[in-house]
Amino acid sequence: MRFIVPILCFLMAAASASAQPSDPVVLVVHGGAGTISRDRVTPERETAIRSALEEALRAGYAAIEEGNPALDGVVDAIEVLEDDPHFNAGIGGVFAADGTVRHDASIMDGATGQAGASTGTMHIRHPIQLARAVMEHSVHVMLNEEGAEEFAIQQGLEIVPNSFFHTEHRRRALEAAQERERELQGDAGYVPEEWQMIGTVGAVALDNEGHLAAGTSTGGMTNKRWGRIGDSPIIGAGTFVNDATCGVSSTGHGEYFIRLAIAHDIHARAMYGGETCTEAAEAVIHETLTEAGGTGGVIMLDRHGNVAMPFNTKGMYRGYITRSGQVTVKLYADE
Ligand code: ASP
Repeated sequence: MRFIVPILCFLMAAASASAQPSDPVVLVVHGGAGTISRDRVTPERETAIRSALEEALRAGYAAIEEGNPALDGVVDAIEVLEDDPHFNAGIGGVFAADGTVRHDASIMDGATGQAGASTGTMHIRHPIQLARAVMEHSVHVMLNEEGAEEFAIQQGLEIVPNSFFHTEHRRRALEAAQERERELQGDAGYVPEEWQMIGTVGAVALDNEGHLAAGTSTGGMTNKRWGRIGDSPIIGAGTFVNDATCGVSSTGHGEYFIRLAIAHDIHARAMYGGETCTEAAEAVIHETLTEAGGTGGVIMLDRHGNVAMPFNTKGMYRGYITRSGQVTVKLYADE
């Protein structure tokens, strides 16, 4: 008996161990999951989104190729998407009910287990940089609103007026959400719709030393109020990474991702349950999240360079780049 248990554990681990791909993925990004279908995305928008995802992948790849840590790959990729108005992060972040854009972001280092996050900031040009500064230069994991901004100023991060992030299409989305809310006035069952939460961005990177990092950045949910915080800045829900298993960044209806600790659950199933990270990611999205009634998806990159991008919505903006520089970008479910 003394020998049987360790042998069984070894066999389980060996059976589920992910193979090393011949051209491992070194960076995977997402630009949000939701009601993304061919009839809703104009050709111009589709081209712009595909090229922004590719640009983000190339930016992060350049950092990793130069021998920098995975954290640099994550930050460099996410910054590109924060600067692009097509995504719900940085410029183009969705409006809260009071007409401001408020960002949430988080980052985690798979080598050290360190993490940083910020919520509800209104003036930080690149919230992902703030999340990293919280991780590297504070003794805390998560800072919010004014305090987070005070810390960002101390750290010398770029500060901009809130109007810097405002876009016309997000303004129209706020008006539509408020119109719908008025129509349902008195209906306690008002539930935000999928389109109110599209476009969050995230990245997971694997560096030349074999270390992983993951990060997520968002404007959250259109018409959010009462200081609502989604999953994106929450370690274990929106972001999680561990060098022993994989890195994960989430997108979707944040309340479900928080309740189900989606990103950590993928790691835990691989760490303690003997599944590969790919199996874990697929099961967590297509079984756990779906059975709970939640919508969204994740990007997952494991320590060998295997990638998974499961989602249960119509589409998810997503893509990855391999060690040799091969780029793949996808938007719809049938790609
Ligand atoms: N997960 C984000 C939130 O709930 C929204 C998104 O992924 O687009 O704040």
